[in-house]
Amino acid sequence: MKIANRIGSITQGGGDGWGIYYRTRDLLEAGERVLNLTIGEPDIKTAPEIFDAMRESARAGNTGYTFGAGKAALRRAIADRVQARTGIATGPENVIVTPGGQAALFAAHMALLDAGDRALFCDPYYATYPGTIRATGAVAVPVPCHPEADFQPLEADIAAHAAGAKTLLINTPNNPTGVVYSRATLEGIARAAIAHDLWLISDEVYDTQVWQGEHLSPRALPGMAERTVVIGSMSKSHAMTGSRIGWMVGPEPVVEAVNTLATNTTYGVAPFVQDAALFALNRGTGTEQAVAAPFRRRRDIALARLRGANAVRCVPPQGAMYLMLDIRATGLDGNAFAAALLEQERIAVMPGESFGAAAAGHVRVAMTIADEAFDEAITRLIAFAESRIAG
Ligand code: PMP
Repeated sequence: MKIANRIGSITQGGGDGWGIYYRTRDLLEAGERVLNLTIGEPDIKTAPEIFDAMRESARAGNTGYTFGAGKAALRRAIADRVQARTGIATGPENVIVTPGGQAALFAAHMALLDAGDRALFCDPYYATYPGTIRATGAVAVPVPCHPEADFQPLEADIAAHAAGAKTLLINTPNNPTGVVYSRATLEGIARAAIAHDLWLISDEVYDTQVWQGEHLSPRALPGMAERTVVIGSMSKSHAMTGSRIGWMVGPEPVVEAVNTLATNTTYGVAPFVQDAALFALNRGTGTEQAVAAPFRRRRDIALARLRGANAVRCVPPQGAMYLMLDIRATGLDGNAFAAALLEQERIAVMPGESFGAAAAGHVRVAMTIADEAFDEAITRLIAFAESRIAG
């Protein structure tokens, strides 16, 4: 009796940051104080009014199966939101509601890739990307995005890896780097996608968290709507991580394909969760601004502390809830730096290497703890790094 090779292949290859995670958990369980900057989850909780809406819906009897691509009113609201924010005609037929962005990422790759196909993704990457691709039986191919280019993917690098590829997965605003892709970057991506006939899978789950510049959805670029699927989620925008609610927006045949898959996997999303999501979207932008505000504040705290630092360089953080710190001047790689910082300072950060080879010599900071503790952590992290070059 044997478990399928498919599962083993999901985790294969690449570094991981679990060492830091487990050590942090052990220290916390032993009662130690650890400033934990590893968690990519808003520290704000879901607004009580959203749960009131969920409860009301459930109490009213919305507790049965929801077959299909989602409740009509929610699909319409998502389509309207996407159209209003991108200017691209979007109808309910372009939307499928999924249990979170991750389910949409998996479903999109399942719908667009056959076993053995080549699937590109940008490195540094969100931790699940290569595993998600490999779970479909496709071959996951990283496209390096260089720190020298502020981790913006370059058209030439995509083109260099594109021969025979079928999909390209991008993420802006970006986890783990905090970079927002510029218009020039996205135009380069669009040119490469068209030239090499790629599907573009655009993960935009952080689109409500932009501190500098603006978020541009590549689906809005000329010739891209027919080859782009967009992944959305309310996990980050509305602090609804545990409710598992997200979506995919794209051409109708892709939505239909993902719907076929849903019939054989998730059976859709709980109807009362869908009603709560509709309520949350209809509340206007107040909730999303309240969720985003602490990250903007903490980004400013960090940038003020980093000014004048020699041992730590910050890749300009333009969005999302992360900072990518370049600690190469300390002579340590990300793994060694993160391990020493945890042992000596009881501050937990993720090694850049756990997000791909391109982020070697960096550490990722999640700005997800209270301002005062965050300020303390950044101040002590910088002092720790400075002591490494002084010594
Ligand atoms: N994409 C990115 C870039 C993420 O950071 C996350 C969550 N950390 C997800 C997708 C998935 O989020 P969810 O499934 O909660 O929507």
